[in-house]
Amino acid sequence: MAEEPMDDRHFADPETLHAFIGDCHRCPLGDTRTCLVFGVGDPHAELMFVGEAPGKNEDLKGEPFVGAAGQLLDELLGSIGLVRSQVYIANILKCRPPGNRDPQPIEIETCTPFLAEQIRLIDPKVIATLGNFATKFVLRTERGITALRGKLYHVEGRQIVPIFHPAAALYTPAKRDTLLEDFRRLRAVIDRTPDAGGPDEQGVEGGRTVVPAAGGEPDAKDEPRTPTLFDLE
Ligand code: URA
Repeated sequence: MAEEPMDDRHFADPETLHAFIGDCHRCPLGDTRTCLVFGVGDPHAELMFVGEAPGKNEDLKGEPFVGAAGQLLDELLGSIGLVRSQVYIANILKCRPPGNRDPQPIEIETCTPFLAEQIRLIDPKVIATLGNFATKFVLRTERGITALRGKLYHVEGRQIVPIFHPAAALYTPAKRDTLLEDFRRLRAVIDRTPDAGGPDEQGVEGGRTVVPAAGGEPDAKDEPRTPTLFDLE
């Protein structure tokens, strides 16, 4: 029986969304994956991480970031005083692409409406996008992570912090320091965000302004295309 597409559906909570996704075969990855990897963490988290897609270990366990990149993510979280149960972690794709190849456009198109609804339900104040695919999707941009990291973006009231994918540091150890630096910046964003571990008195700027993470003037050339993902009613 054909599975129902997501269309403009909304759900009451992540569990109901998970149940709707079910034993998904809406794209060809349904035939090759072992486990669908929905997401994990605090469903009321103020900080959400968006990665790319499950790898081999995630596919076997049904949980995001449980392999080597996940170990590094745990370390990076620890470096800013967080553990994974305090945040929410999901991916652009919920199923592993064979051989860990890049997500294909049809897979992203089919799967990201689930992520968009997950984001709406979790309603994080801060989203850290890990790597190119997550950053391009959340910021609705074609620009790459190298150009976008190190700055803070506001999308429909959420603060978006693009960060290198932890796997990048497994291949290029020098990126580890950049990741640590980006996590320190992420901590600073959290610290000045009310209800996300920061002080109450400071307001969160809404809209789509793009400001450098370290403060200073908005950098107009970094303005992402108008995002449509986070149109919350
Ligand atoms: N890489 C990702 O992007 N996500 C995972 O869940 C694991 C590795």
